[in-house]
Amino acid sequence: MTGYGAIYWLDDCGDDLTRRPALAGDTTVDVAILGGGFSGLWTAWFLLRANPDLQVAVIEREFCGYGASGRNGGWCSPRYPMLVDELEKHFGTEAACATIRAQHAIIDDIGAIIAEEGIDAHFTPGGMLSVARTARQWAALKATYDGYARLGLADDTRLLTADESRALIDVTGVLGGMKTDSGASIHPARLVRGLARAVERRGGRIYESTAVTGVRPGQPAMLETAGGVVTARRAVVLAGEAYLSGLSAYHRQLLPMSSMIVATAPLDAATWDAIGWQGYESLSSGAYTKDYLTRTRDGRILFGSRGAPYLFGSAMPEAALADAALYGPLIDNLRRWFPVLHDVPITHAWGGYLGVPRDGMPSVHFDPDSGIGNAFGYTGRGVATTALAGRALAGLIAGVRAYVPDLPMLHAPGPKWEVEPLRWIGVRYIQNAFARIDAADFRNGSVPVDARLAKTLAPI
Ligand SMILES: Cc1cc2nc3c(=O)[nH]c(=O)nc-3n(C[C@H](O)[C@H](O)[C@H](O)COP(=O)(O)OP(=O)(O)OC[C@H]3O[C@@H](n4cnc5c(N)ncnc54)[C@H](O)[C@@H]3O)c2cc1C
Repeated sequence: MTGYGAIYWLDDCGDDLTRRPALAGDTTVDVAILGGGFSGLWTAWFLLRANPDLQVAVIEREFCGYGASGRNGGWCSPRYPMLVDELEKHFGTEAACATIRAQHAIIDDIGAIIAEEGIDAHFTPGGMLSVARTARQWAALKATYDGYARLGLADDTRLLTADESRALIDVTGVLGGMKTDSGASIHPARLVRGLARAVERRGGRIYESTAVTGVRPGQPAMLETAGGVVTARRAVVLAGEAYLSGLSAYHRQLLPMSSMIVATAPLDAATWDAIGWQGYESLSSGAYTKDYLTRTRDGRILFGSRGAPYLFGSAMPEAALADAALYGPLIDNLRRWFPVLHDVPITHAWGGYLGVPRDGMPSVHFDPDSGIGNAFGYTGRGVATTALAGRALAGLIAGVRAYVPDLPMLHAPGPKWEVEPLRWIGVRYIQNAFARIDAADFRNGSVPVDARLAKTLAPI
């Protein structure tokens, strides 16, 4: 084991993460972006592609890819942050369909852009495989398929029998599966690091080790940092996702939730023969605690799941993600999925923070009066959606209408989270209830009496 907290993707990103210089003195640009993750960098990239003369600066507290963008499961997924039936309920059938189609289309766009920019992000269009390992999960999977089919969105999706599913990937206890052809796996750290270099090649400036300590709306809007004030003639963009909860003005806008991943050592050919998985599908089950798995190019399996308990006051210490006790259940679970991995070493175990909006809907918005724009709230499904958001936000700021599909994500930030201790009580209750629902489901297919309440309270 390299260590708890060791992030496989960053270890393998192809550069040594040497930090770019920090901001040293006041500066003025057209667009100042807080955050060097996918949201901030895609926004910068689309702005600079539309207008190479624009002066764009990205201000990053640590280094590009430090946040969720450099640590995620590597699913460039056609699944939107809000479920399709929720989209339909809140925004209507047309908007729901337009959103899902845009989400599918952006995956191809990402593949094309990284090819154009020469970013070797291991983009592998293997689609998605969801497996059902309990009767409840199988019923839910069929309902999901029916939902897509009813809206005419299931052309690339089909239900699989248990045998068909196992023929793709030999997971234990599978009752059936759903295969979606759209979707790719990617190396997220190579993507985010390569995107940062692409932004610089197009003339963007990136300051690392520079924490934004305050945001001043106005004409012009500004970002305050210890190294100086960044004045933005046209827009300030907030792209800090979960970490924005650390700025007092945005403290209750997004709830930081953690998700955790363990990585095996590269598997030998005999083990891969036993498992299958020749198609590099992004693999998941229907557990409430969200199991997600990825096959890497160098032959590892990554197993991710919802992470540590929510901490009072939306605290998000990095140390909480290096607690060895949190990873034991993930490793045990991985070995239940694939008993053949019994003796295979686990080399990396890490977590990251993702941002959950109170209404479950990402927000992409630009207010010309305050000069403030934002792109955040992906609830753990941001690898593809950040590109959609960055393109839309660049369009709003630059006035490029063609960039802006008329999607429900284009709205001002939604309602704030409850004040503490209500937030802590509610979120801890939901986390606990979801774990109990999964445990009861696996034990004997039963459902805790409060399952409906927990599902109603959860924003996603
Ligand atoms: C463990 C894990 C697994 C995931 N798996 C998947 C997956 O497989 N597929 C998927 O679609 N999504 C997944 N996600 C979610 C996805 O990674 C995120 O939605 C996406 O990366 C968000 O990108 P972002 O740029 O908005 O935020 P981030 O990548 O978090 O970037 C925000 C950046 O802002 C910087 N920042 C914050 N505050 C400040 C400040 N005050 N001053 C300066 N800089 C600041 C941070 O340092 C950070 O670098 C996962 C997330 C996690 C944590």
